Amino acid sequence: MPSQPSLKDVQSATIVDPKKAKSFSLKERDTRGEKLFESKKDAKASLEEDAIKINELQDTLFASKAGALLVILQGIDTSGKDGAAKEAFRFTSPLGVMVHAFGKPTEEELAHDYLWRLHKVAPRKGYITVFNRSQYEDVLVVKVRNLAPASMVEQRYAQINDFEKMLVENGTRVLKIMLHISKEEQGERLRERLEVPEKRWKFNPGDLEDRKLWDEYQAAYETVLQRCSTPHAPWHVVPADSRSRRDAITSRLIRAELEAMKLEYPDPGYRLEQYKID
Ligand code: ADP
Repeated sequence: MPSQPSLKDVQSATIVDPKKAKSFSLKERDTRGEKLFESKKDAKASLEEDAIKINELQDTLFASKAGALLVILQGIDTSGKDGAAKEAFRFTSPLGVMVHAFGKPTEEELAHDYLWRLHKVAPRKGYITVFNRSQYEDVLVVKVRNLAPASMVEQRYAQINDFEKMLVENGTRVLKIMLHISKEEQGERLRERLEVPEKRWKFNPGDLEDRKLWDEYQAAYETVLQRCSTPHAPWHVVPADSRSRRDAITSRLIRAELEAMKLEYPDPGYRLEQYKID
């Protein structure tokens, strides 16, 4: 592979092929990302280039209102959902990008169907919205911790696929990214949270409870990838043990998705000769 893989190389290395998704195995996916970016230096250069390009593309999207982009970031605790979003959009105007983080549902959210809180903040035309956690928590944490009856969880895979299809058919592209880290790397990052004073605020004892359920979460993720990687909204598994490679790969995917929208600045609707500014 060249030092900077093409957008296509990154897409094909990370996608969960909808045609073969049923037999998808998460264990076979690497967590390091060295096949795509040999060195961290290459990854950083690629991220820089893509972040600049993402800003340009977002500007055209905002001007044209030709559609919307929803980026769904999922991943186990410490996989870097915040970091990946921050880096990909580091040069993008905050006016055109919204980020929504979904934690434990509130009482009001629980009184509605589980998609309610997501649908109402899905992007409007011209905007990019990032979901940091998403509807998938309702088949991940909810399944692993038995927060809803198994029969209800079972119905949700098809409901989520239908929901995403409806968004796509109405002009929103849906890019789904799972940040894939190893258990060893998660251990390192949790230790770092305890040891580095500036990171202590991120430590949540509940994360250790979830770590004990590592295998259950991996199985629940695998089921999501098998059942919800669809032609209209396929999943991508991004190796996330290295922060720089993770951010470079995520940014390549976001850039590729925006480029696929074939965005153009709109016709201004007037003739330049009409106006003279003195
Ligand atoms: P993060 O860990 O993403 O930085 P928080 O510390 O706020 O952010 O954690 C969010 C928590 O909310 C996670 O433990 C997650 O599993 C939980 N959560 C998200 N969605 C749901 C849901 N639908 N039902 C129950 N718990 C949820």
